[in-house]
Amino acid sequence: KLVDRGDRPDTVVQIGDVRIGGDEPPVLIAGPCSVESREQIFESARGVREAGGVMLRGGCFKPRTLPYDFQGLGFEGLTMMHEAGRANGLPIVTEVLHPRDVEAVAREADVLQIGARNMQNFELLKEVGRTQTAVLLKRGMSSSIDEWLAAAEYVLAGGNERVILCERGIRTFETATRNTLDLSAVVVARERTHLPVIVDPSHAAGARRWVPALCRAALAAGAHGLIVEAHPDPDQALSDGPQSLTLEALAELGREVLSPVAA
Ligand code: PEP
Ligand code: MN
Repeated sequence: KLVDRGDRPDTVVQIGDVRIGGDEPPVLIAGPCSVESREQIFESARGVREAGGVMLRGGCFKPRTLPYDFQGLGFEGLTMMHEAGRANGLPIVTEVLHPRDVEAVAREADVLQIGARNMQNFELLKEVGRTQTAVLLKRGMSSSIDEWLAAAEYVLAGGNERVILCERGIRTFETATRNTLDLSAVVVARERTHLPVIVDPSHAAGARRWVPALCRAALAAGAHGLIVEAHPDPDQALSDGPQSLTLEALAELGREVLSPVAA
């Protein structure tokens, strides 16, 4: 299969000047769960840049558990985010929920995120596979590593080789954390595939105070990067506030995980 390591060298996915995978130094991607307003996303983008982040995340189409919850600003939010990214020299990653939106989202986004809930939406996978836009493929919360890699195969088989895998926690018997961060998946996926593997500690932890330790653990396990939720005012966030770092905490995280240890 195309996803298998075989004799292939590690795939490095390049997005603008950002390189993810292989022997590249680990990257920090950060931003709010949802794009909420022009001011919020511009402030977030500045915080990400100042923390040493290389890409801005933010959701415009949100897959919420309840239909009454904030569903995202849609394309209006995407344009704001595109501008916030550009103003700060940051490429952007955003989730696309529906196959019909792929082409339009790809016009403004540098990376298309496939969310955990859509990991086996095969029509969506085929559609992003038809583009040449980089894809961030989150592991489904109840998906095995085999199923995750099979989902990546859909994108690769469509002719898009720019796939980044993302472990974001899985469902287990444990309820103390929102999900159980499966760092074994990083080790296994790096052995079995040539693709970059990054970790989202925020959706695994569900609480911001646990995020820095999980970041350290992810990098120790060999992750090529981190994607972390951060918000200028997490307590007022319209989604995932409890797990979102303040911009100050993000800056501290950047100093901690991106600076080489002083000799
Ligand atoms: C998100 O990134 O905000 C998100 C919805 O992630 P996941 O699909 O991993 O739950
Ligand atoms: Mn979120």
